[in-house]
Amino acid sequence: MNLQILGCAGGIGGSEPYTTSLLIDNDVLLDAGTGLSRLSLEQLVAIDHVFISHSHLDHVAGLALLMDAVFGKRSKPVTVHATAEVLHALKTHIFNWIIWPDFSTLPNTEQPSMQYQEMQAGSTLTLGERVITSHPVDHVPGSVAYWVRSADKGFLFTGDMASTPALWENLGGQAGLNMVIVDCSFPNAEAELALLSKHFCPAALINDIAAVPAGIEFYIYHLKPGQEAQIMAELGQNKDRNFKALKIDDHFNF
Ligand SMILES: [Zn+2]
Ligand SMILES: [Zn+2]
Repeated sequence: MNLQILGCAGGIGGSEPYTTSLLIDNDVLLDAGTGLSRLSLEQLVAIDHVFISHSHLDHVAGLALLMDAVFGKRSKPVTVHATAEVLHALKTHIFNWIIWPDFSTLPNTEQPSMQYQEMQAGSTLTLGERVITSHPVDHVPGSVAYWVRSADKGFLFTGDMASTPALWENLGGQAGLNMVIVDCSFPNAEAELALLSKHFCPAALINDIAAVPAGIEFYIYHLKPGQEAQIMAELGQNKDRNFKALKIDDHFNF
């Protein structure tokens, strides 16, 4: 299984220019932020499944443009996987014929170009060799993390999140979890804003993951533009773990 980072920023204008989107092999996306705009038309047409962590615009903006780009060019629908809350938000606020066409009815309801597939938090879906499990996290209603593995190797993508002890208790020691991609949006000086907007700052993240085995690699994503160096410096003061900043075009093999 291959993982390519298309975008991982907490906003535009910073050292990482594109918002969250991760490509697994050539056919599965985790989140559909502006990072997916870097794919060619041929690559966009190859995407069969999109898993959405939560309904915020920086994670779904590219989904609307993806559907427009591939419309009429595929033989089967693009399947959008998310919790009921997130699917409801997409239907109500984006694919509503006001912001964007309802691609689940186009060109007709018998053979639509997009289909919604509810994935309850905590459930598992298998796509060929890839096994994907969602886990609820504290951010906006319906937010989930995705644990993706193939054979005995894999990674956890938390999406945006604040403290969720059950996530680390349930997944922290699992075989098939080698790497975690985790939100750390704000520096410690903005801990209050992090708490209000349900994101991590370094102190809160370090506290939350204290019991996670040391062998698991942590990559930080969703750093707020202009504060990347400060956040990473604060994380670097913790000598128990070696935190790395996730970068555009990082590739991982599992
Ligand atoms: Zn968010
Ligand atoms: Zn976000």
